[in-house]
Amino acid sequence: MIVGMRFDIVTIFPGFFEGVFAHGIVRRALKEGLVTVEAHDLREYAHDRHRTVDDRPFGGGEGMVLKPEPLAEALEALGVKSRDQRSEIRDQKDGDQKTRVILLSAQGRLFNQQVARELAGMERVVLVCGRYEGVDERVNELYCDMELSIGDYVLSGGELAAAVVVDATMRLIPGVLGNEASGEFESFGAADAEIDVDVEGVPRSQHGAGGLLDYPQYTRPAEFGGLRAPEVLMNGDHAEIRRWRREQQLRKTLKNRPELLERAALSAEDRRMLEAMRRGKC
Ligand code: SAH
Repeated sequence: MIVGMRFDIVTIFPGFFEGVFAHGIVRRALKEGLVTVEAHDLREYAHDRHRTVDDRPFGGGEGMVLKPEPLAEALEALGVKSRDQRSEIRDQKDGDQKTRVILLSAQGRLFNQQVARELAGMERVVLVCGRYEGVDERVNELYCDMELSIGDYVLSGGELAAAVVVDATMRLIPGVLGNEASGEFESFGAADAEIDVDVEGVPRSQHGAGGLLDYPQYTRPAEFGGLRAPEVLMNGDHAEIRRWRREQQLRKTLKNRPELLERAALSAEDRRMLEAMRRGKC
């Protein structure tokens, strides 16, 4: 029996998600029941005539803030208990270890591949989308396990961020990328730091905390815009292809994201190549 992972999204714009998950592997995963995603309209939990979900910030300042009551009611209606109640339940028995409640926030911990892996191990992820100037902090304190930011910029709402989190997490669930690919994932599904960089074979993408950026890809035609695809990829020598790709990974990471190198698992050979690149020898 397939027990799918469940994402619940609390938002004032449930319609936002109609197209977002209707393509590619995400659509297939939903169709096959590997994953369920449901967007819940926050306004259904506002009871005044205007279905008001926001109010002016205490202390003054620009804009509006999402009120706590409708959000709390929406979460309770989804069966989400307050953090205190959940930790009591966790202590008592095994229950509710596998739910994470997340507030999308520009002030959050940075979302990356490592966090996506953590979330992919859950049974249920509940995502709270802020709007306006944000969400009353007590909702975060009472219900949310973590605040997640998808990057150091400010979006107009948490919806895009929630979609990013769902997409990146979902593709790590076994079976979602198809049987073959998910098998590959199993073999290096642990932290990137545990990947043996010296193993033989074609290197796989291992972007994320502790990893390097991916190597560049080429396909036919062999010549395009006056540029030839690298000869090394045409000659079928897998050891050589592997070396070339690793070198390209190092080169691109050094150029675009040098800070990743500090945490990357590097072999002695990698360090030699990097040293040569840094000295501008190649
Ligand atoms: N005043 C807030 C920004 C509010 S933007 C601040 O400066 O931190 C409105 C909503 O968009 C937020 O409540 C959050 O849910 C979402 N949001 C904005 N930027 C985000 C980011 N980088 N990652 C995740 N969510 C974000």
